[in-house]
Amino acid sequence: MSVAALAAAAVLVAAGATGPPPPGMPAAPAAARPPIHWDPIPYDARRRADMRAYARRHYGLDRAGLRNPQVIVEHMTANRSYRATFNTFAPNRPDAELGELPGVCSHFVIDIDGTIHQLVPLRLMCRHTVGLNDTSIGIEHVGLDGGEVLANARMLRASLRLTRWLQSRYAIAARDVIGHNESLSSPHHHERVARLRTQTHADWPRRLMRRFRARLAG
Ligand SMILES: [Zn+2]
Repeated sequence: MSVAALAAAAVLVAAGATGPPPPGMPAAPAAARPPIHWDPIPYDARRRADMRAYARRHYGLDRAGLRNPQVIVEHMTANRSYRATFNTFAPNRPDAELGELPGVCSHFVIDIDGTIHQLVPLRLMCRHTVGLNDTSIGIEHVGLDGGEVLANARMLRASLRLTRWLQSRYAIAARDVIGHNESLSSPHHHERVARLRTQTHADWPRRLMRRFRARLAG
């Protein structure tokens, strides 16, 4: 294949174009897939084994695969650089906060100019939200506060398009599009490690997610 064809194939693989949702799933209104730049972090057999061990410890699941995700979690990177974010997610090393493996990551990162990068295939779990990693897709936004996204037309448009496309693909309701800070009140939240049952982060609190969800619907 030509370089262009390879790139196109990579985009298709990144999107995981696997056809219609399984039978029995409610028909969601189709949302168009936005342009997505495939920029994978290394996710080798070692990282996959670490993800599987994490899923066993925290969820009692013996797999690294993400199946039928039911939640989309919106995050902020707490920095102002896509490259710095990529470099944080790429190495498979214990995170500074909880000291666990695999390294933290997110499926998508939206840059300040509205470019959507996909770092991890949707068929694999990422460590982005304690209590929800087994059933959620993570979307990071470069910046410090969700208010920056709501005030940045290109970023907001990209984020809404990506979120709507994922919602339609997996039949995820707007109430299950949450900010990281809302994780503990999600009905899908579960965590076997007692000391982590109340652990969450400050990014995208409810007052900002209300505005984001209102835009999703509108
Ligand atoms: Zn977060």
